[in-house]
Amino acid sequence: MQKLICPIQHYLWGKEGDSSLVSQLKKAVNDQYENNLPFAELWMGTHPNGPARLHPHGQLLTDYLANNSLFLGKHEKGGLEFLFKVLSVGKPLSIQAHPTKEQAIVLHRIKPNEYPDDNHKPEMAIALTDFELLCGFKLAEDIKTTLFRLPELLEALDVVQVNSIGKFENPDVDPLKKVFCAVLEGHSTTMPAIIRRICDRLNGEEVASLTDTEKLILRLDKLYPGDVGVLIGATFLNHFTLKQGESVFLGPNVPHAYLDGDCIECMACSDNTIRAGLTPKYKDIETLKANLHYDMTGPIKFAPEDKKDHILYKPRVKEFAVIKYDKNAKVLNNVGAASILVVIGGSATIMGSTEVTLSRGEVLLAPATESSPKITDISDDFLCYRAYKPGNEN
Ligand SMILES: [Zn+2]
Repeated sequence: MQKLICPIQHYLWGKEGDSSLVSQLKKAVNDQYENNLPFAELWMGTHPNGPARLHPHGQLLTDYLANNSLFLGKHEKGGLEFLFKVLSVGKPLSIQAHPTKEQAIVLHRIKPNEYPDDNHKPEMAIALTDFELLCGFKLAEDIKTTLFRLPELLEALDVVQVNSIGKFENPDVDPLKKVFCAVLEGHSTTMPAIIRRICDRLNGEEVASLTDTEKLILRLDKLYPGDVGVLIGATFLNHFTLKQGESVFLGPNVPHAYLDGDCIECMACSDNTIRAGLTPKYKDIETLKANLHYDMTGPIKFAPEDKKDHILYKPRVKEFAVIKYDKNAKVLNNVGAASILVVIGGSATIMGSTEVTLSRGEVLLAPATESSPKITDISDDFLCYRAYKPGNEN
């Protein structure tokens, strides 16, 4: 078993200073940073944009695994196929979706600067604190109710189409797609002025009289003035908060944005993001229009399995599953694959081929060859997450 040194991403939406869990975890292992940038993400994996290294001498984990293939399970393709992260979200991330594998291959070939990988990016977020997000399309009635409360926007749309949202009278025309794309297409022309007029009106009203959607419009506009994501996010997408331990799984082409809180995230090893709004970065409107899933579902959470001494989050993807351990953990169950563990709270000792004591902030690579080592000396506040590639469990 090997402890790892894992890099930070200082994206601008990250939490600042000690309010960031990512910063707290780094400080707990005496990894000091001399800058005042936000601490957004801790990356635990081998992606070239933020590769982990072995503690203490700094060898790249990628090279180490290439030279120690016995560390991997038989079903693993020469390295880690997932990217494991801790996120501390201080302000909303871009509204985004991720491509399928087939779409990713094409996008990477046509626009390699925007799409750095030829891989898909299914992802799962597990809340560590209250975790607020936008995810998937609202139910049809909710979208229509919201749109009819925004006359400034409604007058720029086809009202017949708006009324038809949720009714598929013509199988070739999805009214939601028509209306949504009309808003998206106005991102640099009509929408900034419409957002301005909406916000001017809402700012003149009593705060107590505003709906949650209207409050969200004002909040998003303060951070990203005039950005089309203000309307897309508040009007069309489900807005909800996960409690600690609750999770969402995001398959391809589901629009989403994380707004606030800390979470564990796991995904296929890829950095491919198709952005729709709430960002100064490139918005790929044409790709979104062509690919997005327009299912109106309301909020959908992902249900983990209670395995008595651990909780298993295993979505239907080949690349990753995540296990949560707390003070009730007894063994590091045999997953038949290389795995990465991160300790969010407390400490414990793993009695494997080597005995390793892990405490808050530490990250460990456990090889596939470790078969169910005991976990002892567990503190009451122990909280640890572990990612691996499923398919070879015992
Ligand atoms: Zn995403």
